[in-house]
Amino acid sequence: MPVTLPISIFGHPYWDSLALMIGQAALLIFFVWFALVVITVLLFVVSIRKKHLYCPWLLRPAYLLLKGAVRTGCRMFGIDDTEITTVLIRLENDVNRDEFASVPVQERAVFLPHCLRSAKCPAHLTPLGIKCLDCDRCGLGMATNALTDAGYLVFIVPGSTYIKRLLKRFHPRAMIGVGCLMEIKQFQEMARKIEMTAMGVVMKSDGCVETTLEWDELFEVASIGLEKPVVGRK
Ligand code: SF4
Repeated sequence: MPVTLPISIFGHPYWDSLALMIGQAALLIFFVWFALVVITVLLFVVSIRKKHLYCPWLLRPAYLLLKGAVRTGCRMFGIDDTEITTVLIRLENDVNRDEFASVPVQERAVFLPHCLRSAKCPAHLTPLGIKCLDCDRCGLGMATNALTDAGYLVFIVPGSTYIKRLLKRFHPRAMIGVGCLMEIKQFQEMARKIEMTAMGVVMKSDGCVETTLEWDELFEVASIGLEKPVVGRK
């Protein structure tokens, strides 16, 4: 006996066309989502491989929207989470650059991590962070002098609790944070939460003691929007 398919699924043409529309919309949403994931992953891969940010206006919002899928897609191309975080930090800096440039240097602060100190550092911790004695055992004395001379508020701090406290006390309008990759990621997230303009500088090597930094990279960021560039003594 021949089998006849029901003409109507829900027993009424209205519900049938509604179900069809929902199905088509779901399919369309899936294709748009998939296409966006593929485009974002490819942009990350190309940006990392070529060391240049392509379509930064799309990368950041697309990543925030599709985080899990983009990370999985990037892993398929051999891109790890560290490389993605590096790109995101650069993106955040790019977004904040103009705003940062517009803030007068007297209203900017720099937070340097205390792990940049020499293991033989003679300085002590104070409520304002480490009070550097400029003993020349590490680069912090040179950097602190150069940044202070340029007009910056400079603090050498042991952690983010200090940063929050000093922000409340001195009310800078923009800040630069130096740290390892994860610290800078958290620093930028904190800045976003408190709606503050922040630039992040990632250290050359991390760890808990005697970490290193490309000082010129810090001075380059600190010089944004200034007539005279910040230069450290050689
Ligand atoms: S230059 Fe400053 S921070 Fe570096 S070791 Fe000397 S006192 Fe400590």
